[in-house]
Amino acid sequence: MVEVSLVPLASRGQHSEVVMVLHDITDIRRLEKMRSEFVANVSHELKTPIAAVKGFAETLLSGALHDEETLKSFLQIIYDESARLDRLIMDILELSKIESKRTPLQFSPVHMRSFSQKTVNMLNAEAEKKDIRLEMDVNEELYLEADEDRLRQILLNLLSNGINYTPPGGMVKLSVKPKYESGKKDYDDLQIVVEDTGIGIPKKDLPRIFERFYRVDKARSRSSGGTGLGLSIVKHLVESHQGIIWVESHPGMGSRFIIELPVIQS
Ligand code: ADP
Repeated sequence: MVEVSLVPLASRGQHSEVVMVLHDITDIRRLEKMRSEFVANVSHELKTPIAAVKGFAETLLSGALHDEETLKSFLQIIYDESARLDRLIMDILELSKIESKRTPLQFSPVHMRSFSQKTVNMLNAEAEKKDIRLEMDVNEELYLEADEDRLRQILLNLLSNGINYTPPGGMVKLSVKPKYESGKKDYDDLQIVVEDTGIGIPKKDLPRIFERFYRVDKARSRSSGGTGLGLSIVKHLVESHQGIIWVESHPGMGSRFIIELPVIQS
């Protein structure tokens, strides 16, 4: 997109001269559009839980207080929706912090086996509740230079998505392997894979899955407490470690999120 402005020069006698200046404003417009879409999305996402909290509280106040069963179930909804609101605000703040690069990453060597074990342990209770098997396959000798808190967040987001989008009886697995270039004995990158035997992602949705607030099934994401921001946070964090992420998935069979990260940050 080009913006044209005419700048008059000093006139000489009867003839006035102007200079035509062309500015390429494609990027500015695109950023403006992205920003206003983001604000609209955020407002919409905040409105839904607020409306639920308000609505159920109003119903209770206008007389439903005496039936204990109704009272309990409404209070549970109010609690769940405020917890979701809390997560949503945390995720929005996190995303804005990462995007503005306000907090620089703190790199240190991470022992991948013990780190992965601790991270998986954090989700054991959640997986058990849903009867999902959590597996891990990480060699003892692997290290990665990373910001440990951010790396934990990447894995937690992917693993908890795996648990959320896998029916009971299924499996979610984390593996970390060196990535050998063909014909080489050494490796520069590690490959981290989070895979599940869950519902999978339709082919048409795959290219958009890392966009903010993009969900394949809004109702399902909401009912499982999702904010629609988890994967876009993951992608940003992977990229801030100079890595790449992509997904392979087949509906009904499961998903594989694959991350490649350099062992040493240059
Ligand atoms: P949400 O909070 O909705 O889970 P995410 O950004 O983490 O948001 O994921 C975006 C969407 O991608 C989800 O709503 C879901 O539709 C899909 N998705 C993410 N991970 C998986 C997975 N492991 N299996 C199936 N679908 C997934």
